Amino acid sequence: MSADLALIGLSKTYAASPIPAVDDLSLEVRAGTCTAVLGPSGSGKSTLLRLVAGLETPERGSVLIDGRDVAAVAAERRGVGMVFQRPLLFPHLSVLDNVAFSDRVAGMPRARARERAAHYLETVRLGGYGRRRVEELSGGQEQRVAIARALAAEPSVLLLDEPFSALDPSLRTDMHDLLAAVRGAFSPTILLVTHDRDEAARVADRIALVENGRLLHEGTVAEAYRRPRSLRAAELMGGRNAVSGHVRGGLHVSALGEVPVPGTADGAATLVFRQEDVRVDAPSPGETSLRTTGTVETLRPLGARGEIGIRASGVLVHAEVPSTSGLRPGEDVAVSVPHALVHVVPG
Ligand code: ADP
Ligand code: MG
Repeated sequence: MSADLALIGLSKTYAASPIPAVDDLSLEVRAGTCTAVLGPSGSGKSTLLRLVAGLETPERGSVLIDGRDVAAVAAERRGVGMVFQRPLLFPHLSVLDNVAFSDRVAGMPRARARERAAHYLETVRLGGYGRRRVEELSGGQEQRVAIARALAAEPSVLLLDEPFSALDPSLRTDMHDLLAAVRGAFSPTILLVTHDRDEAARVADRIALVENGRLLHEGTVAEAYRRPRSLRAAELMGGRNAVSGHVRGGLHVSALGEVPVPGTADGAATLVFRQEDVRVDAPSPGETSLRTTGTVETLRPLGARGEIGIRASGVLVHAEVPSTSGLRPGEDVAVSVPHALVHVVPG
């Protein structure tokens, strides 16, 4: 129950606006994998999903499901399921009949449709809830019903548009586990829109970064964090360190020193590295690192972790440290980042 999804040069401009909501966007999602679409509000994520679902028509480009162009295929026949931020359940139907809805529309007898619906309610761990009214459910339970309803139609592609954004954090973690279970049981191909990087990292195999309707970066979760294609991609992934400099002869040179960047073309280039990768103590002997010394300038608690700013060679380096580190502003520290964990982007 999964299919390769390919979007090729998709563009969509709404009549109300001269700027394209989706602009020449190409993306492949392999059968049974999950790609998270991350991007600021208004960047075209929902429009992208609506184009895949067939709820909008692109001016240019195509949507291929298992290699087949679905331009002429109606939304309900694409084998695509969609779950939105708001569950949009039918208030006049029981939980069970909400989930049975698509089978009933397809002409399945009520008893059989309800039997199947009960199975999908089990999958989302709402086994005993079939007879309830929708208004007797919590927000998290409603969203589970919406997922069960989408799954009951046996979609080969599942589109999730910020499905967990309205839920509180502990419930979100439960939903991430649930999504993992759904993937294990049905392996649908999933396109998940989220604005939560941690959620993307926890749930998805790959991340597609979108801004102004364009694809900025696509790759594994690890690549999105540590090998962003551009400075903007690094920023959207929450990267806090970007040090301008230049590459010459395979070496990046900046105020922080030199780092080998083999295979990188000469020219202006910005060194990027994660705050989590900055070590604020003596580097281990024998390890090749960017090393410098600096003075703690800023401290920002982040719960179990803290973020500190260290002034080193004129550059403010951001580092994540345990909140128990006891570091204080004005303190001198050694700073190092392993060469393997720095990266350069153009500009
Ligand atoms: P996102 O989901 O990333 O927040 P959207 O796809 O909803 O972004 O919107 C992308 C752009 O298209 C925004 O500028 C938004 O205002 C515009 N837009 C979205 N839906 C419509 C619509 N139905 N009519 C006109 N403009 C729209
Ligand atoms: Mg949206």
